[in-house]
Amino acid sequence: MSRYWSDVVHRLTPYVPGEQPRIEGLVKLNTNECPYGPSEAVLAAMAAQTGEGLRLYPDPQSGALRQAVAAHHGLRPEQVFVGNGSDEVLAHAFLGLLKHEAPLLHPDISYSFYPVYARLYGIATRELPLAEDFGIRIDDFLAARRDGGAGAIIFPNPNAPTGMALPLSELRRLLDACPDLPVVIDEAYVDFGAESAVALIDACPQLLVVRTLSKSRALAGLRVGYALGHPDLVEALNRVKDSFNSYPLDRVASAGAVAAMQDEAWFQATRARIIATRERLAAALAARGFQVLPSAANFVFARHPAQAGAALAAALREQKVLVRQFARPARIADFLRISVGTEAQTDTLLQALDRVLGR
Ligand code: PMP
Repeated sequence: MSRYWSDVVHRLTPYVPGEQPRIEGLVKLNTNECPYGPSEAVLAAMAAQTGEGLRLYPDPQSGALRQAVAAHHGLRPEQVFVGNGSDEVLAHAFLGLLKHEAPLLHPDISYSFYPVYARLYGIATRELPLAEDFGIRIDDFLAARRDGGAGAIIFPNPNAPTGMALPLSELRRLLDACPDLPVVIDEAYVDFGAESAVALIDACPQLLVVRTLSKSRALAGLRVGYALGHPDLVEALNRVKDSFNSYPLDRVASAGAVAAMQDEAWFQATRARIIATRERLAAALAARGFQVLPSAANFVFARHPAQAGAALAAALREQKVLVRQFARPARIADFLRISVGTEAQTDTLLQALDRVLGR
């Protein structure tokens, strides 16, 4: 292969998503979807859009959804950008905000899409190791910036796949120390118990917060995500979007997403249910000897003291329970990332584990 083509192939090392099995009857705890269906109001709003109005193009500005998202967060619509899933929002952020001469800083154990985008867009990165306890250390980011420079910073809060969250005070400390640096906080899992950086947007114009409706609003299949920040950052994302001439969302997805943002009762009840099941799951795993990292997400990250992660995941699959295991980095290879399911799915998982562990 020529040098040119091998460079292209390296740049295009794709993301490997979690398995979406075609087999029926698996308990699917591998991609952090919501175990409950979306709100009835969402389904009704979408059904209302499937008539003759579909002959019309959607609103290129997604005005109604930006309005609904802004109202939910107490912001203005010009502080909101929407896209087809937060992955698309992140893609635009990488292209529009995170490409600089100096490297993009992110944790070494973090959302595995970040390095994929960085390679694709030719963005230099520097991966900062998580602390011994798997937490993100803000001081390491500040030191890395002093030593080698930084073009921008990105990490999820709570982090994935650890589930561990930083308090708002630590985010504030980072932002105050880097007033001139674009900082993206990916809050895909924030609704399950972490403090949101949205509260810092007015004080920190370099902050972009990215959210998704895939987890806490049960709409992974609809593909809706958004970003919140200073209108200048949002304008940068709009310019990238308009350079592709892409529509942010179709009419059906927009209507469903608006209804989802407005159904506060469904949202609060669902997240409370998931948090309660997570606490039961974490305690049950700990009782079986697992090391369970403190989770503020809709999944737990846990390691058995004696079983290799890959073997345990394979054995659970034999029992028709799907969980996620990451071969790299080696430091997390023995952890399982287990999505919080329904109470019944959690029982099935624990029974399967007991069979596998011979309890
Ligand atoms: N960020 C993080 C940290 C995630 O784990 C995910 C889900 N894989 C996403 C963003 C993307 O979610 P979506 O594109 O469904 O909004």
